[in-house]
Amino acid sequence: MKFEVTHKSGKARTGILHTPHGDIETPVFMPVATNAAVRFVPHIFLNEIGYGMILSNTFHLLLKPGRDVIEKFGGLHSFMSWTGAILTDSGGFQVFSLAQRKITDEGVFFKSPIDGSTIFLSPELSTEFQQILGSDIAMVLDVCVDPYADPDEILRSVDRTLQWALKCKETHSREDQALFGIVQGGVSKKLREYSAKETVAIGFDGYAVGGLSVGETFEETVAMLDVVLPILPEDRPRYFMGLGTPELILEAVERGIDMFDCVYPTRVGRHGTAMTWKGKLNIKSAVHRSDTHPIDEDCDCYTCRNFSRGYLHHLFHKKEALGMTLLSIHNLHFMNQFVRKIGRTIKNDSFLEFKREFLSEVSAGASI
Ligand SMILES: [Zn+2]
Repeated sequence: MKFEVTHKSGKARTGILHTPHGDIETPVFMPVATNAAVRFVPHIFLNEIGYGMILSNTFHLLLKPGRDVIEKFGGLHSFMSWTGAILTDSGGFQVFSLAQRKITDEGVFFKSPIDGSTIFLSPELSTEFQQILGSDIAMVLDVCVDPYADPDEILRSVDRTLQWALKCKETHSREDQALFGIVQGGVSKKLREYSAKETVAIGFDGYAVGGLSVGETFEETVAMLDVVLPILPEDRPRYFMGLGTPELILEAVERGIDMFDCVYPTRVGRHGTAMTWKGKLNIKSAVHRSDTHPIDEDCDCYTCRNFSRGYLHHLFHKKEALGMTLLSIHNLHFMNQFVRKIGRTIKNDSFLEFKREFLSEVSAGASI
């Protein structure tokens, strides 16, 4: 995978990721297809919106459908009939959010949430399975801890992540697949700096900031980016894992992040919240009951081209799955337009102006 930076405005930048499944303009937002599906959204809508890359989860796919099924299909692209690029996370985040697990230097034992059997995941196994999945970008298996854990525990997680990163790199052999390292370190500036330097020293095709967006404050997230980003090489893509709120995306882009993923747009969509340029809109609110207008007059997504707020309001009140689909489509369209607009404003050097305007519009019109 090649990456080229095409424009810079301060530290913010646009670029192109050349993947085996197409060129991806950055900054890019990746919808999350945990179980090889973006929940409630058929692929055709992702294509229409313009998404060229999605994220899927190694951990979930290893449990179901399992390695043998993915092998039989010749990889994840063919299994799920997705022709665009795919990034797979390593399973680290999911495994470490389980209550029943045991970590050793070799890997992690955990109880399958599906049938209770004991499963072992190691850096080698995670990398091998991601090679079978055939994703365009694979991630190293990392150790996630509570960002407020004891400093000694965070240091241990950083060191183990570094050891495992090395093992992942040694195991990785697929030339048509990029491998990204992951910077950990909780909310400690010192440990983030250490993790970033050592991860860069191992050398990866791209670098991710992991273990954030897990409950720390806005200021802490930004402070960690301020420490990590200057250490990451300019010529490699930088990915902030699990970040999907517009406000934080703006801060991350300003500091030089190129890639994002989050369940946020589809999750809030399924619960009746539409994302707009003026903030969030709760379609379940009674004010929309007989409203004949779309969510956003200026939005050209499938939902806004065809359906009124009143109809969407009705679908949510009757708990029709179509309502969840339509709001997920609108929110994913919004996110794509949002990162594209960021890209355009970086290119014409008006990013900071756009950031200011967007934030003031959102705070003025919050929660319609
Ligand atoms: Zn729309």
